[in-house]
Amino acid sequence: MISIVVVSHSRALAAAAVELALQMAPEDRAPAVEVAAGLEHQESVLGTDAEAVAQAMTRAAERSEGAGVLVLVDLGSALLSAEMALELVDPAVASQVRISPAPLVEGLVAAVATAAAGGDLETAAAEARSGLQPKLAQLAPTLLPPAPARDDGTAGAGVPAQTDTTEVRSVELAVGGEHGLHARPAARVVACVARVAPETTVRLTNLTAERGPVDALSLSAVATLDAQRGHVLLAEASGPLAQEVLVELVDLAAQDFGDLPAPAQPLAATERMDPASSAEPGVAGSGLEAAIGEVVLAGTELDVSDALAGSAEEEMASWRSAVDQALARLAELGERARRHLGQGQAEVFDAHALLLQDPVLHEQVERRVGEGISAASAWEATIEDAAGRFTALADSYQRERSMDVRSVGERVLRLLLGKEEPEHLRGGILVVDELDPALAISLDASVVTGVITRRGGATGHGVLIATSRGVPVLTGAGAAVNVPEGTLVAFDARSGDLFVDPDDDQLQAVEDLIDRRRAERSRALAQALDPVRTQDGQALAVRANVASVAEARVAARAGAQGCGLVRTEAVFGQWRTAPTVQQQVEVYTAIAEVVAPHPVAIRTWDVGGDKPLLFVPSEQEANPFLGARGVRAFAADPQILLDQLEAVCRVASARPVQVLFPMVTTKDDVTTARELLAQAAERAGLPTVPAQLQVGIMIEVPAAAIQADVLAAGLDFVSIGTNDLSQYTLASERGNTRLARWSDHLEPSVLRLIRHVCRTAPEGVPVGVCGTMASEPNLACLLAGLGVTELSASASAVPLVKERLRGASIASCRELADRAAAAVDAEEVRGLVSARPAVGTAR
Ligand code: PEP
Ligand code: MG
Repeated sequence: MISIVVVSHSRALAAAAVELALQMAPEDRAPAVEVAAGLEHQESVLGTDAEAVAQAMTRAAERSEGAGVLVLVDLGSALLSAEMALELVDPAVASQVRISPAPLVEGLVAAVATAAAGGDLETAAAEARSGLQPKLAQLAPTLLPPAPARDDGTAGAGVPAQTDTTEVRSVELAVGGEHGLHARPAARVVACVARVAPETTVRLTNLTAERGPVDALSLSAVATLDAQRGHVLLAEASGPLAQEVLVELVDLAAQDFGDLPAPAQPLAATERMDPASSAEPGVAGSGLEAAIGEVVLAGTELDVSDALAGSAEEEMASWRSAVDQALARLAELGERARRHLGQGQAEVFDAHALLLQDPVLHEQVERRVGEGISAASAWEATIEDAAGRFTALADSYQRERSMDVRSVGERVLRLLLGKEEPEHLRGGILVVDELDPALAISLDASVVTGVITRRGGATGHGVLIATSRGVPVLTGAGAAVNVPEGTLVAFDARSGDLFVDPDDDQLQAVEDLIDRRRAERSRALAQALDPVRTQDGQALAVRANVASVAEARVAARAGAQGCGLVRTEAVFGQWRTAPTVQQQVEVYTAIAEVVAPHPVAIRTWDVGGDKPLLFVPSEQEANPFLGARGVRAFAADPQILLDQLEAVCRVASARPVQVLFPMVTTKDDVTTARELLAQAAERAGLPTVPAQLQVGIMIEVPAAAIQADVLAAGLDFVSIGTNDLSQYTLASERGNTRLARWSDHLEPSVLRLIRHVCRTAPEGVPVGVCGTMASEPNLACLLAGLGVTELSASASAVPLVKERLRGASIASCRELADRAAAAVDAEEVRGLVSARPAVGTAR
């Protein structure tokens, strides 16, 4: 029988709700209900604790013996804690857990009754979600806004009471989420509607973009409504469950169709968030290695022209059988992804499966087959149409999803043409146009030594999946890899260097590179948890930049000595309303606990420039990077910043915490920040700012670097943000790829500013670097030589950065730094710091 977890801010509330719900079940048939409510050791304080929720989930999973766990939450941070708990539990437990958007009491009562009647997880979840129905049916006519009449006489906004099953009901849904209604949220809409089909039908129209209406059961149609953040959709339903499904859609929309809240971002996504980290075009990301092997071509040789058309019945039968086989395979791949990579990546395969069941695509295939062509040709044409609709979308992320459509298309096409799945590829370097997720998860990483893509950047799901499986991926190689199968190639994914038909020297150079990296990586991992001392005894700290509790866990395992930068604007990046003080306290506490006893530097909202926050009002600016960014954004109204500082003060009373102010430019900025901190401490009920709370500023504006002696006086630390310091020093916007050769953090002007800060910072004020420079192992010694004593790197880079510093003497680092600062340009500096052999570019 399924088990249930109740997550509530209040123990009393949870206990009463459980007592009430259990009355719905005979004693011998009642499901196990675990409670995670209130805060440990703080009886009187209302709150939720992700660790406690994780423990309750684990107990519930054990008691359910595989039947699954339904989690019901009360409000706000209870949901956040439940989401965080999913990251904390064993993946095997997480895969059995479903968090319900249902109202707590009604949902719990419905879930207990359904479980007691033998209902499975799916049914209990659906019943819980429908828990509000009785109330809505009774009260909706008075509680919900009257539905404005539409031209066609059907109902307008609101969810009217159910009276007539033929009537069309409608509701407007606001689209949130970073990429709007992209494939995965769209898949959730389709899944929601599929549960009531075919008796109840739903159509969606994008009112803002004037697209639609489309059948909400068709993923290809829903995903191509071009519904972006801020758009409004009209959902119209008719049939016996019209009202229920609209209520579910309203719930789903309130959570950005399943994308909200998203406090935890995958590591790679967070690093990608930083445009300066992708300075080298075509490089998939840090942690990638090099590869040598013979080219294996995939995905380009599916020729449908030879497929002879049988009768329409025969063609449809073979097409249906191919679809069934493909669905079975996708279920296996989804399960594999769920086990190894987590729910987020697994959902890609759920979306693929939904695409395969898309009734619109089915109709198109049937129509084409009816015209006398083979199932393979009909399917190919249908997929091309659907992919074309994605390619025409405005949002680049949504556009990239055409790859998902093509991936599904190719899977079925292979089956129709009797071609092998690409996973049976023999060992070698796989060359593909684009790397789709299905291929990335099905690759046998022990024989496929690397992947080269002709098109596409590092943002594709496939690249992320392959890299997290340890497969080196070189992206965007273009025509350089239009070579016959069996051609020898070698590449270095970190530098982007590619050799086609390498000569002996080039081959040897890449072989040596791989050997060195392998040896260095194993040394680094063996000593990852040890502190760092250079050969001549200088102690240095290597910490991590994080944007979620999950990342903090990776960082702690990688040996990070605390977090040198918590990008809070990324932690809460997708929230539409500002997190409360309590919600922030929970997240910051969780991060602090994960890296304890090391400190955590919580940076205050770094909003503005390329980082808008939905809950911080902003005005249109001609030059946002030179506008109201960081601390400046709160000059007129500091309330949201004060809330954050109050949370920081509260966490700091019990844990080692630092507060870090971004975009500080003048002494007045420092004074104002400190005044706000004092006010926040007062609001937190503390007599003063906690003595142990260390206060620091980011140095990312040249003015602050030049005047570091004045600005840092009286502070506990400073941290140089080399990403912004480079863009402001070099007057080159950091995300603008056309300016890449100007916005180079290795320019001697930037290095001299870093050295100036280190030399002039007041005695006892340590200088750290938390920009991308600190994540590049090759630059660790240079930064130490310039005088930096704390490096805050991406979690995955921590072991190697430590290893590089251990292997050097501070004297040699200083010598290197002197030469670099005296260099003519970034190219000369690159020559000094590059540990790589001089390998050339693709040819
Ligand atoms: C920086 O500017 O280097 C920095 C660390 O801040 P962000 O990249 O978040 O702007
Ligand atoms: Mg910055």
